[in-house]
Amino acid sequence: VKTISQDRGVLHRYYQELYRAWGAQHWWPANSRFEVIVGAYLTQNTAWTNVELALKRLRSAQLLSMTGIRRVAPARLEALIRPAGYFRQKARRLKTFVAFVDEMYRGSLQRMFAQPTSELRRQLLELNGVGPETADSILLYAGNHPVFVVDAYTRRILGRHAILPENAPYEEIRARFESELAPVCQRSGIHIESTPTQRSAHSPSRMSRAKRSTAAQVYNEMHGLIVNVGKYYCRSQEPRCEQCPLQRFLPQASRIQADSRHL
Ligand code: SF4
Repeated sequence: VKTISQDRGVLHRYYQELYRAWGAQHWWPANSRFEVIVGAYLTQNTAWTNVELALKRLRSAQLLSMTGIRRVAPARLEALIRPAGYFRQKARRLKTFVAFVDEMYRGSLQRMFAQPTSELRRQLLELNGVGPETADSILLYAGNHPVFVVDAYTRRILGRHAILPENAPYEEIRARFESELAPVCQRSGIHIESTPTQRSAHSPSRMSRAKRSTAAQVYNEMHGLIVNVGKYYCRSQEPRCEQCPLQRFLPQASRIQADSRHL
């Protein structure tokens, strides 16, 4: 795939700009590793508000745990997570995940996350229903492994800013972010506890406050910041470039196109 932009250092400047504008994003909103994992499965093809409802129902039924998902009858699990959509498929996938941890790691997430990143990533990608975005969400937000999560917002921003084509391979985008954010990761003084701003996605949670390497912290924040850009500014229709903190990075040709859409 042809790289459009030749500026190899721009993404760490995006990070600095967004972090300066909005501060820490406090991802992921969860109290346990397992809650992050369930959320990562449930959020596939649905809005987060629906996931929250499904998680609330699991929590109320005292089933938001490895033991709970292991023991619950498939039909009951399907009924509880119904608000998240694709509930039969997602129920099956959650059961498959727990069976995987039981078989490979004697039921211990701690043992699972103690694996080297690349090995665990390979294993997760072999599970039914786990694509790169889900695998990396689990690795980064539940396991604090240093991998960058690529989503549709990331692709849209890269495409509109002519950094990479929107349909570039996942691995190419991930590698690009990880290499360009390296200068930020090597610097000390990442402000994990900064004051939430109006653009902070979540209140601090037990998982967002967990100890992690600087690289994992930077990837954690960058994904959250990108989600904010996508939700509030870089929408699929009528992007709000004029108010977006990334506007100064927008190539001139893209500005003209964006302006003409508002005529
Ligand atoms: S400046 Fe415009 S195109 Fe660029 S990220 Fe912001 S909204 Fe999207």
